[in-house]
Amino acid sequence: MSSNKQKTVLVAGGAGYIGTHTTVELIEAGYEVVIADNLSNADLSAVRGVEQIVGRSVPFVEVDCCDTEALRSRVFERYAFDSVIHFAAYKAVGESVAEPLKYFRNNLDSLLSVLSLMQEFDVHNLVFSSSATVYGQPEQLPATELTPRQRANSPYGLTKQMSEDIIQDTVAAIPFLRAIALRYFNPIGAHPSALIGELPKGVPNNLVPFITQTAAGVRKELAVFGDDYDTPDGSCLRDYIDVVDLARAHVVAVGRMVAATAEKREDRERYEIFNIGTGTPVSVLELVHRFEEVNGVSVPHRLAERRPGDVEKIWAATDKANNELGWRAERNLGDTLRAAWAWEKRVRGL
Ligand code: UDP
Repeated sequence: MSSNKQKTVLVAGGAGYIGTHTTVELIEAGYEVVIADNLSNADLSAVRGVEQIVGRSVPFVEVDCCDTEALRSRVFERYAFDSVIHFAAYKAVGESVAEPLKYFRNNLDSLLSVLSLMQEFDVHNLVFSSSATVYGQPEQLPATELTPRQRANSPYGLTKQMSEDIIQDTVAAIPFLRAIALRYFNPIGAHPSALIGELPKGVPNNLVPFITQTAAGVRKELAVFGDDYDTPDGSCLRDYIDVVDLARAHVVAVGRMVAATAEKREDRERYEIFNIGTGTPVSVLELVHRFEEVNGVSVPHRLAERRPGDVEKIWAATDKANNELGWRAERNLGDTLRAAWAWEKRVRGL
């Protein structure tokens, strides 16, 4: 039996895309998990998918993490945690531009609520979902964790920067607290079982859900935003990271902090940042073609205007995650795109 067996992790926002995959990996690594989620952008069926994969029930509390009172009485008073993974946040860039206050209120309130309860209940370790968006368009690539952040070009991005700063200052002030911010590049794909995956409501903003829905005939064609960028084929470059690899990074991050706390490691910074990506840039057109090739389906697409706010190119330096965290991306892009398609087909009953 794993030595992690007694460690309980609160997964705040655990019914969402990355939260469900992370919950599976945590349970498979021997952790006890409690999911807290207000289901504002998720569905209980996702939790059922997790339970099917792991073969047992997973404690789930429907609660808004901004509601400190409810989170205290229904979650923190009922379970003993040593770690929290905080996913509970809105994530639509365009919507955040239209409704900034909604984003500031939700994304910051939920974090403040979690941090204050961690302090109150003596919970030591926090993993935070940050994003490569904090880098803007870096002058030098790949982006390392020391690449200067640039002012975010959306309120969503700003909430990620502000959250990182809030966590850094809170950790500095509370000696028992440790935190790791994971800066995700572009998470894609689905669990190989096809029992969980990304379920965007309405028209997808992100590339891969748009591709899979187009292949499924739900969308007529994909618009490739921009063909005149300064890149090999003129479309944007991104670093697409498999969601299962990304989920594993959270498990490794929790393990690192649990061990550091147990060993009373004074030598290690209590707040750390890691890029989570593959280190390989892939263009939008390459991704579309690869998807078609590995799945044997066509994705009708046309070249379109640039999308306002998009950076031209970004990919991760992964040395710090590889060497210090002991994590690296393992799944290859073909398998990831096959998993994305298998999930879409299952959702559509194809
Ligand atoms: N993209 C596209 N068509 C779409 C959605 C996205 O061409 O319908 C491009 C987008 O311009 C960017 C890349 O795909 O270059 C990844 O976009 P996504 O929204 O998935 O993630 P982002 O990098 O913006 O966080």
